Amino acid sequence: MPISHARFRRGALLCAALTLTFPLPAADAPAAAPAQPPRTPVVAAPARAWEFAEDGVVFDSQFPAARLSECTRLGPGAYALTSEPENRPINPSPWFAFRVRAERPRPVSIRINTATARLRYVPKVSVDGRRWITLPAEAFVRGEREDEGTIRIDVGPEPLWVAAQEIVSGEDLDSWGRSLESLPFVARREIGRSVGRRALHALDIDATASGAASGCVVIIGRQHPPEVTGSLALMRFVETVVAETPLARRFRARFAVLVVPLVNPDGVAGGHWRHNLNGVDTNRDWDRFDQPETRAVRDAVRAVRETRRPVLHLDFHSTFSDVFYTQTDDKPMQPAGFTKAWLEGLATRVPSYAIKRTPNANPTQATSHHWAHREFGIPAITYELGDNTDRALLQTVAAAAAESMIEQLLALVPETPAR
Ligand SMILES: [Zn+2]
Repeated sequence: MPISHARFRRGALLCAALTLTFPLPAADAPAAAPAQPPRTPVVAAPARAWEFAEDGVVFDSQFPAARLSECTRLGPGAYALTSEPENRPINPSPWFAFRVRAERPRPVSIRINTATARLRYVPKVSVDGRRWITLPAEAFVRGEREDEGTIRIDVGPEPLWVAAQEIVSGEDLDSWGRSLESLPFVARREIGRSVGRRALHALDIDATASGAASGCVVIIGRQHPPEVTGSLALMRFVETVVAETPLARRFRARFAVLVVPLVNPDGVAGGHWRHNLNGVDTNRDWDRFDQPETRAVRDAVRAVRETRRPVLHLDFHSTFSDVFYTQTDDKPMQPAGFTKAWLEGLATRVPSYAIKRTPNANPTQATSHHWAHREFGIPAITYELGDNTDRALLQTVAAAAAESMIEQLLALVPETPAR
């Protein structure tokens, strides 16, 4: 049965994300790195409209973060859509995002093909591009091929947004950063430019008296464009750090925070599956630093050392389930014992939440967390949120993770002036 626009407007009912079982290995997890075929050139998805006058139906990809490579008509009210990746080889995280509308209300059948990559995401829909619901089972059916699925839905004159995940665009992250900038202890600055010359922004959260900071926490995110749940958690985590609570105020009196919420703005704007505009996975570039995005963030993080000691590095991502990629507890680092204490504190705050920790995953990969650990001798963690993690739980856990971090850093880092 198609579901109707009217039902979307009552859609809070349907808000619970579908829980699906993904038997594949985690997308950010290992990939033993055999020799890769040469990188193909980056191909942009067109920003255009596809009009099917015989049905009165129009599809379009004319908005940030859209990705729709081709759209053809199979028959009355039936269409085949394809999302191709920006280049290959590539991790199978097939992003897609488009709008569809019809002159008169009518059902449509939309077959999505993700070009040999298994459909990782259950489509989300929105009538305004801001509030999203996950399509229920009667409106989205996976195909016999793992890279295909079919949406059956009612559309009308108002555009319906359809995307792999709810869209958190570069513009959304920029306006979030600007809203934090209104706080007296938050400054926003450009730290560099992407391949496509988009600004890379950092937020400096610093309420410490001059020279009195015990250290600085580094938080980065969105190296991988489709990893929206990572952005949602990053924002909640940072909002907890800047909140007007006694705990957060005590933290801010002693610690600064450097936040780079969007490391790959070109990838997000272009609806990329994984890479930057050079077709490179930035989270495999933290040894060569071939890319302007990784160089800019590295230099901003290194510059922290001029006034403060980095004490923790967190890099937010998304994969099939929530997992923390950490160092092993026996590795020497300062503050010692942080990671174990942090996650125990999180478990105490959200007892129902099953914490999965994978120490020392892929130690040879050139990820930001391996670099930060080597460079500074600090705990450095890739914080992965599940694609399908319940969004309310995600908010609860991200806030609790920030509170637990605050408690542990206050307890473990000596109160000494910056060097
Ligand atoms: Zn990732």
